[in-house]
Amino acid sequence: MNGSILVLGAAGRMGKLVATSLRQAALGPVAGYDRATHGALALEDGPLELWEDALGALAPESVIVDFSHPDATPLLLRAVQERRARLVVGTTGQSPEQMAALRQAAAETAVVVARNFSLGVNRLLQLAAAFRVFIEDGFDVECVETHHRHKRDAPSGTALALLEALGLGTAPRVDGRTGADALRQPGEVGVHSVRLGAVAGEHALLFGGDHEVIEIRHRALDRAAFVTGVAPAVRFVRRAKPGFYSMLDVMRDAAGSRQ
Ligand code: NAD
Repeated sequence: MNGSILVLGAAGRMGKLVATSLRQAALGPVAGYDRATHGALALEDGPLELWEDALGALAPESVIVDFSHPDATPLLLRAVQERRARLVVGTTGQSPEQMAALRQAAAETAVVVARNFSLGVNRLLQLAAAFRVFIEDGFDVECVETHHRHKRDAPSGTALALLEALGLGTAPRVDGRTGADALRQPGEVGVHSVRLGAVAGEHALLFGGDHEVIEIRHRALDRAAFVTGVAPAVRFVRRAKPGFYSMLDVMRDAAGSRQ
């Protein structure tokens, strides 16, 4: 079967929501692939075809929307090489090597990678550059992220993206703090991962000075928050030149085409 959009990880929690939202956005035929199962997958808005072979029926220049697992990275790279696929990657937890391979693939095709597709988090990423003043003023920075009990990777990709946006991507990072010799060191950034029940996703950035604390919090009320940016990313990646893009590029492009 010919499909212009293939959702990878389609049987997963995110994959199902993403497939439904893409069908609602009427961007063309949507099919799915999931390493756990194939056949017809019952979704709220009707059955979704799950292919047995991810690349077999993939038409050239289709868009692959990946919400699966970093293990799927070689499959994404093959899809670029063999089918000139365009990529929208929502999966988190890639190793530096896997991320470098995706960047390399972006020399040949358009790739959007976003560790969070929600509008609110991406606006927060845009604003984060302004929060650097707190760091310049000597405030300590810590991030507390809370997610449901099924989340595999920690810290969350969004926590890492927030730190990068604050200019702390290469700062010494302490993930959790424990032990008799765990004194906070100057310049370090602490990240704390809470795994709890069904929490869709919550991130708090804390800036601590000698007499005051500033707290900035984003709370996803449900998983649908992470789907809002996916259809715009698909529209963008279809038109974009080869390159490695973020949701900020997608948002700028969408704002430009509204003017
Ligand atoms: P999940 O475990 O419910 O679903 C993942 C699905 O992918 C499963 O059905 C699994 O069988 C399938 N899968 C695993 N490896 C695969 C492979 N190599 N090829 C094909 N299918 C494979 O997980 P989830 O909660 O839906 O999250 C999926 C990913 O999306 C995670 O990396 C998560 O962190 C990320 N995520 C991203 C955002 C975002 O906005 N970018 C939001 C939420 C979750």
